[in-house]
Amino acid sequence: KNGVYLEIQTTLYDKNDHLIFIRDITRLHLLEQMRKDFVANASHELKTPLTVIKGYLETLDMFKDSLPKSMQKGIVNMSEQSDRMEHLIEDLLLLSRLESNDKREENQWHNLLGMMEAIASATSPMLTETHHLSLAIPENARLYGSYKELYSAFSNLIVNAIKYSPDGGNINVSWESDEVSGVFSVTDSGIGVDPQYIPRLTERFFRVDKGRGSKTGGTGLGLAIVRHVLLHHDAKLHIQSQLSQGSTFSCHFPASRTRTDNIPAQPVEL
Ligand code: ADP
Repeated sequence: KNGVYLEIQTTLYDKNDHLIFIRDITRLHLLEQMRKDFVANASHELKTPLTVIKGYLETLDMFKDSLPKSMQKGIVNMSEQSDRMEHLIEDLLLLSRLESNDKREENQWHNLLGMMEAIASATSPMLTETHHLSLAIPENARLYGSYKELYSAFSNLIVNAIKYSPDGGNINVSWESDEVSGVFSVTDSGIGVDPQYIPRLTERFFRVDKGRGSKTGGTGLGLAIVRHVLLHHDAKLHIQSQLSQGSTFSCHFPASRTRTDNIPAQPVEL
């Protein structure tokens, strides 16, 4: 009530007695809030100068044929790096919004197959001839939540499956539901992850192979975003993976958020 945050833990001491630990975490909470505000403000402030830089780069790009070869290469490089920075800023802002819990979109019922088709078409430029993407989603599967958040979580999982299958292979996206839960899964036959790293994958900026980030264009924030979105939807992320064999990332939703009847899906604008 007075801005004091307490953490309470109880442990069974012996047969009948309990030990109760009460810790004052007010200072920790304030520091955490300062960190979140700083990231949100810094990301927001970086947007304007980046937009100006990108604008000038586009103009330079129009005249690049009249420039020496070394400068042409420089323009391509700068464009790629500024796209990367824009992606990073967007991910940081999205993560800040998810953490702060404000300005959340109203929850609605969504047609899962429709959402998957939109993601598949947006990610199709990343697929090579050696990739095979299959969607096993029933037409009548419905999921309750925020379209933008769910889109971004599922799209991150599918983009990762493609990125981390550099030699191609099968990527299967599926949905299965029963009375207890609805499970959305993305399975790939890519490079996989050493199981010792699995618990750390959803940490911000954690990457198994630090050098790979610049090659794959990742920001290291994708799975942190997935974790926060699932938290908002009462869902849990399960990860199974074997090095050089591939991975399965599955999102387990409670039955209360899933339906299989034909409620008309809401029209959505992204
Ligand atoms: P990134 O932008 O680096 O892909 P993510 O948060 O999405 O960041 O993923 C964190 C790390 O988890 C990745 O750098 C990669 O090491 C590992 N990872 C995620 N998805 C997969 C996958 N499908 N196969 C293998 N490794 C993966």
